[in-house]
Amino acid sequence: MTISHVPRRLVLSAGLVVLLAGCTGVATSPSGSVATPSTSASATAPSSAAATGSAPTGLVCTAPASPTLAVTEGPYYKAGAPESTDLVQPGMAGTRLTLTGYVMTTACAPVANAKVEIWQADASGAYDNNGYTLRGYVLTDGQGRFTIQTVVPGEYPGRTEHIHVKVTPPGGTTLTTQLFFPGTTANDDDAIYDPSLLLAISEQGSGLVGTFTFVVPA
Ligand code: FE
Repeated sequence: MTISHVPRRLVLSAGLVVLLAGCTGVATSPSGSVATPSTSASATAPSSAAATGSAPTGLVCTAPASPTLAVTEGPYYKAGAPESTDLVQPGMAGTRLTLTGYVMTTACAPVANAKVEIWQADASGAYDNNGYTLRGYVLTDGQGRFTIQTVVPGEYPGRTEHIHVKVTPPGGTTLTTQLFFPGTTANDDDAIYDPSLLLAISEQGSGLVGTFTFVVPA
């Protein structure tokens, strides 16, 4: 995708607000447009975080929340990826993407120190199966928040744009899933695609911010 596609994505994602209302995206305004983190988010913030006076921003989670849908790992997972907050290498092609969000329990309690590992194709749709390009993990902070810098993946035969993710709470079971981009025509022809796994997309400078809240069993 290119930045020129952003308005279309935003328009389409606005129509998905109802679908996203459970626990899968950034705060949304009453009109349904994708909003920057706002004070409305604090209304649904976990009480433990609110008590600290630093409620998570951009969080929508209503308990009891449904666990995030698990989908196939696919053929390209490779163990041993490094811890890294920035997977973008110098000169790397593609639209910059800040992938961010939360790991929460079904009770909307933040999960700290959860491992959020991603792997994905580059902007041309190719995986690095020899090294660890566009493969890495971060740990969530005390509010259950994670952020990874990457690029928007390209499509490859049979697959729409997607990012693979494994989320592992401390001592917990790993959730394996994939994240998708709203407004991508190829979503409709992808057998793995599920609208509950759509990122909420907003623009930031020349790139995009993709937000998702993972819900794992308590
Ligand atoms: Fe894939």
